[in-house]
Amino acid sequence: MVRLRLPGGRVSAAALRRLAELADAYGNGILQLTSRAGVQLRGLPDPLPVAFVDAVVAAGVLPTDSHERVRNIVASPLTGLSGGRADLRPLTVALDTGLVAEASLAELPGRFLFVLDDGRGDVVDLTFDLGYQAAGPDGGYVLVGSPERGLPVRTEDVVPTLLRLALAFAAARADTGAWHVAELPAWVGSLGLVPVTPVRGLAATALGRIGSNASVSVPLARLPLEQACLVEEVVPGGPVVITPWRGLVLPDSADRLDDLAAAGFVVDDETAWAQVSACVGAPFCARARIDTTEIATALAAAGGPLLRTHVSGCERRCGAPTGDHRDLVAPTLAEALGAGGAGRP
Ligand code: SF4
Repeated sequence: MVRLRLPGGRVSAAALRRLAELADAYGNGILQLTSRAGVQLRGLPDPLPVAFVDAVVAAGVLPTDSHERVRNIVASPLTGLSGGRADLRPLTVALDTGLVAEASLAELPGRFLFVLDDGRGDVVDLTFDLGYQAAGPDGGYVLVGSPERGLPVRTEDVVPTLLRLALAFAAARADTGAWHVAELPAWVGSLGLVPVTPVRGLAATALGRIGSNASVSVPLARLPLEQACLVEEVVPGGPVVITPWRGLVLPDSADRLDDLAAAGFVVDDETAWAQVSACVGAPFCARARIDTTEIATALAAAGGPLLRTHVSGCERRCGAPTGDHRDLVAPTLAEALGAGGAGRP
C-alpha cells in the first residue's frame, strides 16, 4: 500500500485522475481517500516498479523523498473558498514548505498531525499535535495537543511558531520515542500556554452547494477512474480539495452537481451513503475478517441507517469518523461461534 500526503487536501484534478489511472494499472483499482485528506493505493507489487514511482513523482504529489511521511497537514477544506475567518491556503503551503526545508523535522513521527482551522471550527476537534485556529485575518491561537490551550500569535508568526514547537518536540521526544505531544505533559507544561476558548463547528463539511462550490462525498471513500475523469472535466486545470471526511470540494462547480450525482457522487446529506463508511476490508486487507463493502452496500441499499455507521473488518477500525457514530466491527471466529455458531456476521 502506498499513502500520499496532500497538505490541506489540495491536489490538482489532473494529478487525482493520474493517481486513479495508476491505481488501475498497478494496484487493485481503488484510489482511497484518507481521513487525513490524502490518498492511498493498495494491491501494489512489492517492490514497487520504478515506472510506478516515476509516474507518481511526475504527477507532482511526491515533492520530497526525505519528508513525505511528516507532511501531515489537515486544513479547513473550504478555507478561502467559502466562509471562515481567514484564508489559510497560504499558511498551508508555507507550513509544508517550512517542514520540508528543515532537515531534522524528517524525524518527526509519521503520525504527528498539524491542523489549520480557519475559525469555523471544523477541524479543531480532530486529534492533533500542533494546530492553529484563526480568530480573524490578523491572527489567532497556535494550539498544542488540545483546542483549549495555546499561544496567541499574529498571522505572520503562525508558521514560525509551529515549526519552532515541532523542532522542540522532536528534541524532547528523542529519549522517549513519544509519538504525540500528549505523551510529554511536562514538555507541554513548560511552554507557557494560556487557556483558549475555541470556536467549534460542524464536524464535517455539508454536502451539495456551498457558495459557488460543489461539496460531494465519495461512497466508501473509493474514487474510481471514471469519477476521477469527471472531476478533471468539471475542474479543468484547477485544484480540488479532499476533505478529512473523505469527500471532495470542487471549487466553482456548484452548477455541475447534477452531473456529479449522476456519476455516483453523494451530493445530499440526507442520503444513506452520506451516513455509511467502511474500511477497505477483505479481500484487500490481510487482517480483514469480512467483506466490508458488501455490508456497507447492503446498509446503504436498505435506505438507512439513521445513525452514522462505520463498518470495520477488524478492531483497528481504520478510517472511522471522529464524530459520533456507530461501529460495526467484524467478530472474531470465537465471538461469532459464541454468538450462535453461525461463523459469519
Ligand atoms: S480496520 Fe482492520 S480490516 Fe479494516 S483496513 Fe484496517 S486493518 Fe484492515
